[in-house]
Amino acid sequence: MVLDEPGAPLRAADLPDPEPGPGELLLRVHACGVCRTDLHVVDGELATTRRPLVPGHQIVATVLGGERAGERVGVPWLGWTCGRCRFCTSGRENLCVAARFTGADLDGGYAELAVADARFCFPLPADYPDLQAAPLLCAGLIGHRALRMAGDAPRLGLYGFGAAAHIVCQVARHEGRRVFAFTRGRDAESQAFARELGAEWAGDALGPPPEELDAAIIFAPVGELVPAALRAVGRGGTVVCAGIHMSDIPSFPYEILWGERTLRSVANLTRADGEEFLALAPRVPVRTEVATYALADANRALADLRAGRVRGAAVLVVDPGA
Ligand SMILES: [Zn+2]
Ligand SMILES: [Zn+2]
Repeated sequence: MVLDEPGAPLRAADLPDPEPGPGELLLRVHACGVCRTDLHVVDGELATTRRPLVPGHQIVATVLGGERAGERVGVPWLGWTCGRCRFCTSGRENLCVAARFTGADLDGGYAELAVADARFCFPLPADYPDLQAAPLLCAGLIGHRALRMAGDAPRLGLYGFGAAAHIVCQVARHEGRRVFAFTRGRDAESQAFARELGAEWAGDALGPPPEELDAAIIFAPVGELVPAALRAVGRGGTVVCAGIHMSDIPSFPYEILWGERTLRSVANLTRADGEEFLALAPRVPVRTEVATYALADANRALADLRAGRVRGAAVLVVDPGA
């Protein structure tokens, strides 16, 4: 499924089989998660130059050929880094100035075959079937990085209860934190889902929490949530913006930032994040809830994600027999 230009629906296309270059693996894709970032790519909110582009950056696949033939791997958003810039050489390859991203700069997993840099192909924990593993690769990894950036906050707010929050909620509960879920006003289904996963409270994102929080992570791409979350956290609290794109943040009084509150973003992931989280997930254990779609129904999956109709994570089933 390819993107010809931003704003157009994805188109089913027959492309030549991709050929792995030096250091790359040829992959038979089993499943690919659908991420909100894919919506930003399709809508043109993230600049991508590759045309046509195969989106998708939560790839579960089997390696075809070479030393790792037969190995099941996961390919995340971060697809290549330079290894030389000041970020790469200081443990911050997520900020690499020349980074290439899967399903944005490089063809991704909305396809039967893909190629990926072998260094960015993670071995996947055996406990997870393909469909359940897919959301770990972005929702899980970015969620994990965002949770670490939130510090050891005992009372944690999650704004937007989609794929990432449904995973972070389980990890946070496992760590003994109290979780408060913030959703669109009357989204009773998401609120019930959050409570099922251990949130002790779920309610309207623009309203106040039942008590002061120590940190909040914003997954929804909605700038209005930034002042709302700053108001929800107490002195010394942290607000983490975990999305790659967000509508403009309205101006707000300095008072709600004062008191040593921290406002920060989280960008991408490092391979260390990936190794850490893929080892942690089975220990929690994180259970991912997925809504599945055939590859040819990628546009419907994106539309459902846009409308907030997905419970947990949307996943494209590319090879039902795998
Ligand atoms: Zn670099
Ligand atoms: Zn993603």
